[in-house]
Amino acid sequence: MPQSTQVVVIGAGPGGYAAAFYAADLGMQVALVDPAVNPGGVCLYRGCIPSKALLHVADVLNEARHADAWGVTFGEPRIDIAKLRAFKTKVVNQLTGGLGQLSKQRKITYIQGTAGFRDARTLEITREGQSQAETLTFEHAIIATGSRPSTLPGVTLQSPRLMDSTSALDVPDVPGSLLVVGGGYIGLELGTVYAALGAKVTVVEMTAGLLPGADRDLVNILAKRIESMSEAVLLNTKVVAMKEVKDGIAVTFDGEGLPADAAKERTFDRVLVSVGRRPNSAVPGLDRTRVKVNARGFIEVDPARRTAEPSIYAIGDVVGEPMLAHKASHEGRVAVESIAGERVAFEPLAIPAVVFTDPELAWCGLTETDAQKQKREVVIARFPWAASGRALTLDRTDGMTKLVLDPKTERVLGVGIVGPGAGELIAEGVLAVEMGANATDVRMTIHPHPTLSETIMESAEVFFGQATHVYRPRKKA
Ligand code: FAD
Ligand code: NAD
Repeated sequence: MPQSTQVVVIGAGPGGYAAAFYAADLGMQVALVDPAVNPGGVCLYRGCIPSKALLHVADVLNEARHADAWGVTFGEPRIDIAKLRAFKTKVVNQLTGGLGQLSKQRKITYIQGTAGFRDARTLEITREGQSQAETLTFEHAIIATGSRPSTLPGVTLQSPRLMDSTSALDVPDVPGSLLVVGGGYIGLELGTVYAALGAKVTVVEMTAGLLPGADRDLVNILAKRIESMSEAVLLNTKVVAMKEVKDGIAVTFDGEGLPADAAKERTFDRVLVSVGRRPNSAVPGLDRTRVKVNARGFIEVDPARRTAEPSIYAIGDVVGEPMLAHKASHEGRVAVESIAGERVAFEPLAIPAVVFTDPELAWCGLTETDAQKQKREVVIARFPWAASGRALTLDRTDGMTKLVLDPKTERVLGVGIVGPGAGELIAEGVLAVEMGANATDVRMTIHPHPTLSETIMESAEVFFGQATHVYRPRKKA
């Protein structure tokens, strides 16, 4: 290990490794520290990637079951859990191994260990398997230590039946019954996986709806599907106690989700807790620097992602929401450009959010919900997928595309999509918002037929009251 470096990045998730790679590409001498054998962080080892591998399998299972409606009948699927796990692990190993190679090719010093601060210019690094810390001095450090699962307040139960996202991604088995606590991204994605594999899934969410914060018209379409795949979706309901019993975990609920006469206690084979994530800001020795942590535990940064300590930057989940991989990577690039002496700021108009359920739900830029909160006047142009030829050929009319537009400038401020493939489609929305496109730009851009992307163009036509596939009678003068 060298004794000094120009830039050291602490944490090799999508924020940290993207920053380290970019810094090396700009000619800086770079060290990257992480406890794992290769870069990847939460996203590659126990987040985005393994969950999407499992969700792909869930999609295949769901399609195969539905194929009956088209005259193609498969037998009940036989699920080999060990092979399923092996597929997921292979994907993770291939990607993280590839990142290890890319790190070597860039001549980055990859240190497998855990870092803490001795002062604002020195790290103490304990390599994996060693007890003695080594020191590394730096000109600039980037903290990219990410986040970890939140736990349920007041619940102290320790049980292999009680899972967080990490253990759920290991798919220990297909439980007969699974309770998912929290109807957010993780709960709905992993709930979809387990339901497709054959578990009876119940979702309990403390707020009045799934995915709080997302636009209700989009969520309602997804919620119908979630309800049909689940045993029950209990809204406005909390878990107040859990205890291990002979055949599972007995859970006590409190709230409006259960009928008044129903038992408040139910037993599940497994419980997945997915109630949000907490930033890893308790980096050892951080108090020996001027870095500030806010009341919610996030490290405070300026627009260039510099902390209150000029030699130290911070990026990714540890600096705030949205806790998304692509947001972390982009912040990493901004921090590196700032270290390189450029005047930069992380000020995106649109950070896309995608929930990879079935159907997928995606949005970017201004949402209708936020526009209402801000009392900002907007026009909403919606295109229902029942009017899309492509959606009909897929037998998936359970979708909607909507544009959030400025009524005066006709500028596209936000885009929301629910439907299969929404996660891919939203990229066009991000480009429209970032490029300042208006409804005419989107309407006049020729989209390929028959594709779901046409729904974006036709939403813009709806704005002008002239969508080819939606008839709106003329108003009488
Ligand atoms: P992380 O990926 O959390 O990486 C931080 C790294 O720092 C870790 O490897 C950690 O071990 C290391 N570290 C911590 N402390 C130290 C220390 N003191 N010294 C050295 N190393 C340290 N986001 C998406 O955009 N799309 C998705 O589809 C998606 N799916 C997800 C699914 C699941 C189940 C989960 C849990 C998350 C998902 N996310 C998704 C969120 C995404 O994983 C995070 O937003 C992203 O990983 C954050 O990147 P990061 O670089 O900030 O930190
Ligand atoms: P989340 O914030 O998305 O959802 C948590 C849900 O739990 C919320 O709906 C909340 O109201 C509910 N909740 C909180 N406390 C509760 C309680 N006591 N009882 C019942 N419900 C409760 O959090 P998550 O699903 O754990 O995911 C964490 C973060 O990871 C996400 O916010 C996202 O940033 C990231 N992530 C992203 C993706 C993706 O991009 N596709 C996938 C997974 C995770």
